Amino acid sequence: MTAEEQINLFSLPESEPSSHPSSGDFDTIPLNSQIPINSNTYSSLDQLTIHCNGCQRCQLSQTRTHVVISRGNPHALIMIVGEGPGQNEDETGLPFVGKGGQLLDKILASVELTENDVYICNIVKCRPPGNRVPTKEEVDACKGYLLEQIRIVNPMIILLTGATALKGLLGITQGITKVRGQWIDHENRYFMPIFHPAYLLRNPSKEKGSPKWLMWQDIQAVRKRWNEIKTE
Ligand code: SF4
Repeated sequence: MTAEEQINLFSLPESEPSSHPSSGDFDTIPLNSQIPINSNTYSSLDQLTIHCNGCQRCQLSQTRTHVVISRGNPHALIMIVGEGPGQNEDETGLPFVGKGGQLLDKILASVELTENDVYICNIVKCRPPGNRVPTKEEVDACKGYLLEQIRIVNPMIILLTGATALKGLLGITQGITKVRGQWIDHENRYFMPIFHPAYLLRNPSKEKGSPKWLMWQDIQAVRKRWNEIKTE
């Protein structure tokens, strides 16, 4: 064996360059829920949107009108995660645009935050028929998209509206009334469970201790944390 052949034994074989190194079979992700959506699968939200719009990873694809991906600012410090699209969202393709969404906008406005300060999305991107709670299989099939949204948007604060968002993202099964308003430090981000706006619509009282009053306390805490992060 020549010296050149010997030294070549120390070389690793050159691998094919891949634009999606960790995603396994990139093209089949929208069709096959057995193929995980790994971190770094997408290099941009536009790329993720193409997959979501063609997604058939769960049965919700059969009954949706539009895939509902997000609204707001993709560079926002605050991300708001809801449960899933309702009828208005399914029709428009935008999250939180019904009465619950209008109330959410008012809650943000009460502490001088606008749509430009937040990025709003959901645990599942397609409407569960009759607004039922999404199943574990549906949440699991869709979760990779949400994790990629979090990675790309990179918010410092994530508000989880309601029990489904809390359980779906952090696996916490405690009742929302017990944990709302508490900061949860997780992977260098501040998570806070809050009431879902639809719950507030069903509980209109503003008395001290009521859900609306508690939401007012929570959104002020969010604004305070937002101020701190902005001035760091
Ligand atoms: S809910 Fe998510 S996983 Fe299911 S079809 Fe829609 S985008 Fe795909």
